[in-house]
Amino acid sequence: MSCTVFEGVSSCFNLWASSSPHPLCPPVPRNKSPPGLEGRTQRYRESLGKLEKAAVWFNARKDDLKFVAHLGDIIDGHFTWPEGIPSLDKSRADLELVAKVFDTIELKKVHVVGNHCLQVKRTELLARLDTHASYYAFSPCPGWRVLVLDTTEVNTGPMEVLKPDDERNRQLTMEATLWWDAPENATKPNRQPWNGMISEQQHDWLRQELQDAEQRGDRVIAFGHHPVGKGSGREIHMCWNSDEVEKTMINSKAFVAYLNGHDHVGGYADRDGRHFVTVEAVLECPEEQNAFARVDVYPDRIEIQGQGLLSSRVLPLLS
Ligand SMILES: [Zn+2]
Repeated sequence: MSCTVFEGVSSCFNLWASSSPHPLCPPVPRNKSPPGLEGRTQRYRESLGKLEKAAVWFNARKDDLKFVAHLGDIIDGHFTWPEGIPSLDKSRADLELVAKVFDTIELKKVHVVGNHCLQVKRTELLARLDTHASYYAFSPCPGWRVLVLDTTEVNTGPMEVLKPDDERNRQLTMEATLWWDAPENATKPNRQPWNGMISEQQHDWLRQELQDAEQRGDRVIAFGHHPVGKGSGREIHMCWNSDEVEKTMINSKAFVAYLNGHDHVGGYADRDGRHFVTVEAVLECPEEQNAFARVDVYPDRIEIQGQGLLSSRVLPLLS
């Protein structure tokens, strides 16, 4: 099987939107290097053009690829921090700019929800991206199953201020509050509002999918926005319940790899012979570089052929 993972994949892609000349977008510096970036530069203005180039690259290989995936944060969103006051119209306009480029890709598209994506309503985001759910499974070819996770499903208010007041969201808010207020989580470095976690319901679904894949002899690759494999991302960017999710994954013989965005600098960890890859963000590419990859899977290995900034890797699979 071959598939291509586009790594705008990493967080804060939004940037595409903010960098655009759309009249609803505020004038922003060409590049930004705010505190906390350790001197790295975020190149919002160039990101949309880099996505367009990647789309051309994918379409030129459409007969050879099964699907294209991005790993979240396709917009930055317009949002007042920390008050959490969104500017919905501006965020919608940004989403439209990026979604129109995705529309040009002539392959199946897999969209992972990132924390920044939620500056528009989740339902609007999924509808515009023609995605029926924020977590789901599909089989791109016999013997392989892809699980798309939503690590933003449980979050604190500022990440998703536009959630509807319905029974399901009240349950998710309760799960978020229980985790956030738990004394054992008080000093965890990943207790940050830009992180989130999968719900208990989604975790049950993950266990069921892995069990079913194991029974059928399928191999499983999972995608999500936040890192879950210990050491694959910086601790302040890890999914809140990363320890539990990693344990569920590596306890299944079917599971082989998890790919995520969110931590722009990228990362990798081998956990019990399984692979956890944080892909580098196009947002922080040098001006003339891009960051996406082609991923090919074989019975004994996964090959990531990085383009530009994105790291190439050969990941051996357990027999
Ligand atoms: Zn993110």
